Amino acid sequence: MTVYFVGAGPGDAELITVKGARLLGEADLILYAGSLVNKDILVHAGKKARIEDSAGLNLDEQVKMMAEALQEGKKLVRLHTGDPALYGAIQEQMDALQKLGIESIMVPGVSSYAAAAAAVGRELTLPEVSQTVIITRLAGRTPVPQKENLASLAAHRASMCIFLSVGMMDKVVTELQEEYPAETPVAVVEKASWPKERAIRGTLADIAQKVQEAGITKTAMILVGEFLGKEDYVPSRLYAAEFSHEYRKAQD
Ligand code: SAH
Repeated sequence: MTVYFVGAGPGDAELITVKGARLLGEADLILYAGSLVNKDILVHAGKKARIEDSAGLNLDEQVKMMAEALQEGKKLVRLHTGDPALYGAIQEQMDALQKLGIESIMVPGVSSYAAAAAAVGRELTLPEVSQTVIITRLAGRTPVPQKENLASLAAHRASMCIFLSVGMMDKVVTELQEEYPAETPVAVVEKASWPKERAIRGTLADIAQKVQEAGITKTAMILVGEFLGKEDYVPSRLYAAEFSHEYRKAQD
């Protein structure tokens, strides 16, 4: 007995993997987080699939629903937004299922941080600007270990993708300003890849105000770092004419 934990991608129904779409098409039961997953993705569901929103169910209820469906011989997909391995709360589901002898298979998805970078058209890893991407969040109802507090991560001045925190923009800015200069570029992308996508650009000095004016309170990615604005970065060696690699010989 197997449950497929499928990454739905960030919203655009075409940003699901081929494997994820196939599994949706084959599923008898699709359990998905209705508050987060764009319903457009359900175009991939088969006509006879039963579709259940997990929003109103606690962990035990969800596990029970999944176990019952499997016992009836149903094929089951648990659909999670973006990539299930990031802030998906799936470990507890997989562990509870394992206790019942049910196997879980994860199918990765396009995370919203990637969709947000695409929305602003910026590479997160510009040579000599930043080669590190920090994926993090502010503590909410889920705590963040003290050793990972935002100010300490900001000390690296790497490219940052901050999830689940746009509702606390003032606190995000206060913590980041301990380490990044006020003119550091910030972009907030709401509903990246959805038809209603919005991207707001600013600096640490003005982004909180701009986000408030735009009325963005959830489903948004905060991107921080010089990668957003640097025009004077060094081009990657990968495509440099004089640089050889496995697939291409250097030109003289
Ligand atoms: N597993 C998901 C993240 C789930 S946590 C992923 O990989 O993307 C939910 C948070 O993800 C939201 O609070 C928001 O910060 C971010 N998010 C999810 N979808 C988004 C989207 N389409 N655009 C911007 N941010 C999004």
